[in-house]
Amino acid sequence: MSNELQPKVVIVIFGATGDLAKRKLFPSIYRLYQSGKISKNFAVVGLARRPWTDEVLRENVTKSINEAISPEEDLEEFTSHFYYQPFDVTDESSYNGLHMLINDLEGTYQTEGNRVFYLAMAPDFFGTIANKLKEYGLKESAGWSRLVIEKPFGRDLESAKVLNKELRAAFDEQQIYRIDHYLGKEMVQNIEVIRFANGIFEHLWNNRFISNIQITSSETLGVEERARYYDHSGAARDMVQNHILQMVALLAMEPPISLTTEEIRSEKIKVLRALRNMDPEQVGDFFVRGQYDSGDMKGEAVQGYRDEAEELATSNTETFVAGKLLIDNYRFAGVPIYIRTGKRMAEKSTKIVIEFKDIPMNLYFKKDNDRHPNLLIINIQPNEGITLCLNAKKSGNGALSEPIQLAYNHNAVSGINTPEAYEKLLYDCMVGDATNFTHWDEVALSWEFVDTILDVWSKNTADFPNYKSGSMGPDAADELLAKDGFHWWSI
Ligand code: NAP
Repeated sequence: MSNELQPKVVIVIFGATGDLAKRKLFPSIYRLYQSGKISKNFAVVGLARRPWTDEVLRENVTKSINEAISPEEDLEEFTSHFYYQPFDVTDESSYNGLHMLINDLEGTYQTEGNRVFYLAMAPDFFGTIANKLKEYGLKESAGWSRLVIEKPFGRDLESAKVLNKELRAAFDEQQIYRIDHYLGKEMVQNIEVIRFANGIFEHLWNNRFISNIQITSSETLGVEERARYYDHSGAARDMVQNHILQMVALLAMEPPISLTTEEIRSEKIKVLRALRNMDPEQVGDFFVRGQYDSGDMKGEAVQGYRDEAEELATSNTETFVAGKLLIDNYRFAGVPIYIRTGKRMAEKSTKIVIEFKDIPMNLYFKKDNDRHPNLLIINIQPNEGITLCLNAKKSGNGALSEPIQLAYNHNAVSGINTPEAYEKLLYDCMVGDATNFTHWDEVALSWEFVDTILDVWSKNTADFPNYKSGSMGPDAADELLAKDGFHWWSI
């Protein structure tokens, strides 16, 4: 591995005692180290209020890696790069101490002044931290400084603007890396390659040949311990504004003229600009919200959302959203993109189905019900791969057709070595590649779209609960497609 690709860096994790650091960040840093993507010239500073020591942090890092990966080697050399400082982000006196620690580590590990500040904390603190980092000179160094921000980025356009203004007062747009971990997923990154590296798809990828697109991101879990966070968010903010609209942009964008961050972003932004904003009175025709009731998950009785915690007893928060999106551009005008996402659904799966228009005349079936359009299915998780549904001759006499599937399963090829989304994104950030991070313009356009829906919903009490745990959401989500003559594919 060349030095160029092995960043030298001090990674500062705000919120190092939290869930994200434990489950995602520590294992990801280890895998980058193990695969040689980061050299020995790195150090990690963990910050949080708990009175941990370097040793306690190192024990926790070891534990989290053992739980996530079960490495064969001894982790002592790796964890010796980790340092902990008790730190309250609201306490001014903490920042000078941090500055001194970083300067020391830069000397010890020869990291050339490169710094990543990873904010794995509640978003309320993002603005404060960014500004203190500037005020106390922590972002000034001989190398580069980058700020990584977790979701959610605001709770509507107005709050996102306020947050962005605070961040931009301290860091330039090019220094801000807004994480959308879906953009680190192998098959989400593959959308662009499948489309633009295959003539058989790209030539057909337009309103003449595609009848509709369906994006489903379903979870089997309920809100678990995240009730308070989730109730202030809901499915539209948690999933649609970010992950789902990012997938829509990748599915509908024009081929970029080159693979630079700017060119790809510019094409994605054009899609979000072409996304048809609804009038408030149309929201009911285009969007469905749901909240899960009690039900049965694989033989086990589970409670409804409103029974999950005392404060949810009268909650009007949606745990499910389905919608019909229209892109008003030359390529996609008239092609509905249906989306649905929710909790406590029948299966855990994220997938995209491209349904192609049927041929004008088809002699190879008996009844209309036997007709099967060609589908391209992009499986994002938990399975990773693509399936192409074609029609072929039924074996035996006669010339009737039956649907067949050509499947490519990515997990089977890469197995356990498929890098985790966070691992890829952390690396991209360290090498200065912002392609798979969200630009402010994308955030703003996405909020603008979602705000219209949320605003209408906030003014009416929903008839919740309206779908059973273990189902695929409310009936209205099926009707949304049925009125256009389609149905959700569950292949
Ligand atoms: P979490 O488990 O609640 O952790 C929050 C961290 O912040 C803890 O380490 C806490 O440690 C620290 N903290 C709180 N107040 C502090 C203060 N005043 N000064 C210094 N440290 C303070 O949260 P999380 O689940 O890791 O989530 C972190 C961020 O990632 C959030 O923005 C979340 O939305 C986002 N995110 C998380 C996940 C996930 O899977 N967990 C997924 C996507 C996005 P002390 O109590 O010791 O101070």
